[in-house]
Amino acid sequence: MAVEYQTEAILLAARDWSAADRMVTLFSRENGIITVMAYNARKPKSKLSGGLQPFTHLNLLLAGGKGMDIVKQCEVQTSFRELREDLTRLAYANFIAELTLGLWPQHQSEPAAFELLLAVLALLTKRNPRIAALASAWHLLVLAGFRPEYECCVQCGCKLRLPAYFSFVEGGGTCADCSPFGTSSFEEADKNFLDKLLALDLRQPGQFVVNAKTLTAAEALLYGFVRQQLERPLKSLDFINKITTL
Ligand SMILES: [Zn+2]
Repeated sequence: MAVEYQTEAILLAARDWSAADRMVTLFSRENGIITVMAYNARKPKSKLSGGLQPFTHLNLLLAGGKGMDIVKQCEVQTSFRELREDLTRLAYANFIAELTLGLWPQHQSEPAAFELLLAVLALLTKRNPRIAALASAWHLLVLAGFRPEYECCVQCGCKLRLPAYFSFVEGGGTCADCSPFGTSSFEEADKNFLDKLLALDLRQPGQFVVNAKTLTAAEALLYGFVRQQLERPLKSLDFINKITTL
């Protein structure tokens, strides 16, 4: 017999299933990432259709049984509508969702990550989404255990003197003597900006400026780091590339 339970969750991904159903992947406060089924959610009269939108913060009533848990009811706590109504915000929110799904396995309780994700979505609705996503991605990576090392060379351990290099394979800075072919340059401005992003309070970020060169370099560094840590490219980055070259 199905056991019903309440949970608070953020909807990270949804896909259509059979004629009228929707399969949704949630980040729940209690159970971490879970994939559940919302039967008939695509029928016009379904009470679920309005709430089960990407990036929505929900209160849900789920029923667990032998197979996949089922959505019985959902109530919107915060819709984060701005993320679905603006193409740029949507692109970066998709990147954050895909990154999050790559960083933690299913059914692993991660309440700190849930809280961080709520702060990230709020930030993405109101600030420059490019910078907000950059800062947010680093905070999620650090929380998941992937902190970049760049005070000392990750190869020889000597204090890193800038300009130096950054190795995606090693996950950090390398001095000129240790840098293998294929590492990226890592300059004083790159380090200062990365320091600033990692130290940012995402719930109360102050205003700051960054020039286009440093921002572009920081994005290349993040995307290279993510690709290496997750051992695959993220599809959402193709979408970001498309809209930024429009
Ligand atoms: Zn070295």
